[in-house]
Amino acid sequence: MAKTTPKHTQVVSGWAALDSSGKITPYTFNRRENGVNDVTIKILYCGICHTDLHYAKNDWGITMYPVVPGHEITGIVVQVGSNVSHFKTGDKVGVGCMSASCLQCESCKTSEENYCDKVQFTYNGVFWDGSITYGGYSNMLVADYRFVVAIPNNLPMDRAAPLLCAGVTVFCPMKDNNLIGSQRQNIGVIGLGGLGHLAIKFAKAFGHHVTVISTSLSKEKEAKTKLGADDFIVSSNPQQMKSRHRSLDFILDTVSANHSLGPYLELLKIKGTFVIVGAPDKPMDLPSFPLIFGKRTVKGSMIGSIKETQEMMDICGKFNIMCDIEIITPHQINEAYERIEKNDIKYRFVIDIAGQSSKL
Ligand code: NAP
Ligand code: ZN
Repeated sequence: MAKTTPKHTQVVSGWAALDSSGKITPYTFNRRENGVNDVTIKILYCGICHTDLHYAKNDWGITMYPVVPGHEITGIVVQVGSNVSHFKTGDKVGVGCMSASCLQCESCKTSEENYCDKVQFTYNGVFWDGSITYGGYSNMLVADYRFVVAIPNNLPMDRAAPLLCAGVTVFCPMKDNNLIGSQRQNIGVIGLGGLGHLAIKFAKAFGHHVTVISTSLSKEKEAKTKLGADDFIVSSNPQQMKSRHRSLDFILDTVSANHSLGPYLELLKIKGTFVIVGAPDKPMDLPSFPLIFGKRTVKGSMIGSIKETQEMMDICGKFNIMCDIEIITPHQINEAYERIEKNDIKYRFVIDIAGQSSKL
């Protein structure tokens, strides 16, 4: 890949965490000029993923401060490079978690660049030119067109934003495990947050029976009436857990905090599959007996490729799948972080970067 050294002359207003307090403050920085493969995007909305909190507070020990979080970005193309034919000025587009990959390895060649060894993320990454990447808590983004997707016209830009990470993260394990277009299966979703509520919507659109396994009894009514879940188990209730013993074909674990997998594995049928997408900072307890006695499989999954992200976005357009959101201003990000930590959000905060909603 040719190394380019674009100038970083574009001044951008954003919001960053400066240290592990995780407190978000206004932050001005520079982005590169629009290169031949780039599109420049006026950011309209950016979702707040729990991953943003993990990075802002250095939960995973890999944060490079200052960090400008945000990888659930929607906006309008305002400039395109000479090599870009996929997008034009005025297009509605989205950017998710990735900003670059090597484009040459087996993963990149088979459209699995999210598993490229050299994948770089939209923030807290190192771009091809050696610069640190800054995310969507900002008014403008320059992105390589190969890491940009189109947003279907019928999807509102605010409710589409979280699909760029939360959506594709729950969509891919369902696709990989043949849950699209398959016979009706019993699907479990652990954790009813940003990822979890979208998992219910996808699983219902694909015709499955969905059981939510949650720590929050208060979420039961809405999970069933508004999101369409068929069953709801409170994980701290041993009777409820026992009564659903060996009832599920597939479980998606979206929990952000540490938890033991044993009790959840018991909910799987023999040969059932358990996919972990939640990313607690500490190793999780994985007892051998529920695995051995049930011939069960545990595996992980990370976001999705750009091809899969576009496929997911188009399916959302077709089925009208979008996020349930609470819109905030950039000045409310710290308050939003506190509420996410208290598990007080249904189900995604989305930052109105361009002040669109106040103009409606
Ligand atoms: P979120 O909105 O905060 O939802 C997490 C949910 O987990 C909560 O709503 C809660 O649901 C449950 N939960 C919280 N604390 C718990 C505990 N101590 N024990 C059991 N359950 C608990 O977070 P999110 O944005 O959906 O992200 C979830 C996780 O996925 C994060 O760790 C994030 O970093 C990770 N993630 C991974 C990928 C990937 O590619 N693999 C992509 C995006 C995000 P209930 O109230 O229903 O229990
Ligand atoms: Zn995310």
